[in-house]
Amino acid sequence: MAQEMLRCEPAEIDRLVDAGLPFEDRAGERFFDPNDLYNLGMYSNRTNTQPELAFRMLFRFAGRSVEDLLREKAWDFRVRLECVECEGTAPWRFEAPDVVRFGGRVAGGAAPEACAGSAEYAATITTTGARTPLVSTELRRLTREYLDAGYRWQMIPVAMQADHELVHALGATSCIAASLHLAERFRAAGYRAEAKRGWFCGVLGGALDLPHACVEVEDEDGALRTVDIAKAQLAARLSPDTGAFQELCVGSIYNKVIPSTASGNASFGHHECGSPLPVQVRADIRAAR
Ligand SMILES: [Zn+2]
Repeated sequence: MAQEMLRCEPAEIDRLVDAGLPFEDRAGERFFDPNDLYNLGMYSNRTNTQPELAFRMLFRFAGRSVEDLLREKAWDFRVRLECVECEGTAPWRFEAPDVVRFGGRVAGGAAPEACAGSAEYAATITTTGARTPLVSTELRRLTREYLDAGYRWQMIPVAMQADHELVHALGATSCIAASLHLAERFRAAGYRAEAKRGWFCGVLGGALDLPHACVEVEDEDGALRTVDIAKAQLAARLSPDTGAFQELCVGSIYNKVIPSTASGNASFGHHECGSPLPVQVRADIRAAR
């Protein structure tokens, strides 16, 4: 898998291991952390590794006209919740899409009924966009300051992202960590702000499971605005011709994001059966026909 992902020969993988790439020995075979491989590929400058290709494809839209991102768009949205070591029939708690506040609609989407093992949520979600840039100069300054600090965006396990201070102390960032961090700066400056999780609707049908989060902040005119800090950062890293999209991320909303009711470091799903293991949540989101 490592060779395929990084387009490397076995000898090159050996060199990476010699240089410190951690691995686990499982019956004589080397297993690498997929996040490590992803980050290596992303910053390899090879241009042909799987992570580089995936990100380029996923963010192709960011270089196009942003008008497309402001239109209504319908998504077939499915989430499968799996309680890995389920202890029996119990109610589910699912942090559902929360798009109405931002001009969207939900058709279907019944809450999962109490059962054991696994459950599904399915709905057609309509999202839309609106150009509503941040008004407050202080909020804009804090956002700019964060973007200019040069944190390196990486794939980071969700549980680790919750410790956003640790992540940033390492010079790194990721969607959830960035949002938690910026929300804290906004609050320190006296604004009401909260990091919220959601889904980023890509072109890969959920094949690249990119955790999404953004900051919801009450602007100085009283309006609630969203700052998609990590997408602004990623777009800037991927391509310089994404200025219009980066600006859209600072206060406006766009149709490729489905916000949820989950706060920044919360899980989307919970099963009240008593199992100590977290519920696995897999989303499959496709453009509706
Ligand atoms: Zn369970």
